[in-house]
Amino acid sequence: MEREVRVRFAPSPTGPLHIGGVRTALYNYLLARKLGGKMLLRIEDTDQNRFVPGAEQYIMDSLRWCGIVIDEGIEQGGPHAPYRQSERKPMYRQYAQQLIDSGHAYYAFDTPEELDAMRARLQAAKVPNPQYNSITRAQMRNSLTLPEDEVKQLLDSGAPYVIRLKVPRKEEIRFNDLIRGWVVVHSSAVDDKVLMKSDGMPTYHLANIVDDHLMEITHVIRGEEWLPSAPLHVLLYRYLGWESTMPQFAHLPLLLKPDGTGKLSKRDGDKLGFPVFPLEFHGTDAETGQPTVSSGYRESGYLPEAFINFLAFLGWNPGTQQELFT
Ligand code: GLU
Repeated sequence: MEREVRVRFAPSPTGPLHIGGVRTALYNYLLARKLGGKMLLRIEDTDQNRFVPGAEQYIMDSLRWCGIVIDEGIEQGGPHAPYRQSERKPMYRQYAQQLIDSGHAYYAFDTPEELDAMRARLQAAKVPNPQYNSITRAQMRNSLTLPEDEVKQLLDSGAPYVIRLKVPRKEEIRFNDLIRGWVVVHSSAVDDKVLMKSDGMPTYHLANIVDDHLMEITHVIRGEEWLPSAPLHVLLYRYLGWESTMPQFAHLPLLLKPDGTGKLSKRDGDKLGFPVFPLEFHGTDAETGQPTVSSGYRESGYLPEAFINFLAFLGWNPGTQQELFT
């Protein structure tokens, strides 16, 4: 049976929405509209240390100004309450447990000092990419190396732990990216990533995959900075038994600095004299603590239609002379 097309925009409320994020939202929106699908908004707020108050509202206001209509997961005008990962914690825990029970994840009790010592050992041995993996885990304190009764004792005593994915040692992980084509990664390049943190919060990886599955997402369209995480996500789909409904991935090239050396930042915009935010942003200077105001397209007098047309053309061309779109 053909599945209804469902896409999502999944920002983390760690600051104002940047034009790169708006472009990601726009491409999701355009695909959903073209294919008669739905677009939902999911606030990925599991990293409480990076949470910026007001960012969620800023994101919703920006999307509304741009005319990007969200079908699900937004208060105003939609039938659903916003999806916020911080409000869905018990569910992620349940899937982490499922991975432990099926032998695809494990408890790790290592202290920060023990982890630092491990990294120092690997660096001293000139291991190019020091990580917690199928080789190093054998020397660490986790439920794969400790006797079962000790693990039970540690868990019962409330000792801090994280849950890590057990990445196989030798396996090819492959997926077809709609932009990149076939991507093939050897599992030895993938870390045993943390899925549940010691504070009981899921990490981005676990929460993102569980939600994409439960929200029946068919296409994951996101910035290229997430391409290195995709092999891990493919493993999660497989181990959770969801491979047959895994979404299609499309990793969009990033908006770069004019010299191409990295992601376009607010400072580049300031230098070039154009805003990088859709709406004015009231922030705080990290060094001085003084309030700051960054200009936005709206306040600079641009029409949303002009802004959206400009963004649509960054990284795409219709192949005709048409330059204006509704
Ligand atoms: N929360 C991630 C972000 O801030 C979402 C990445 C994704 O779309 O999977 O960009």
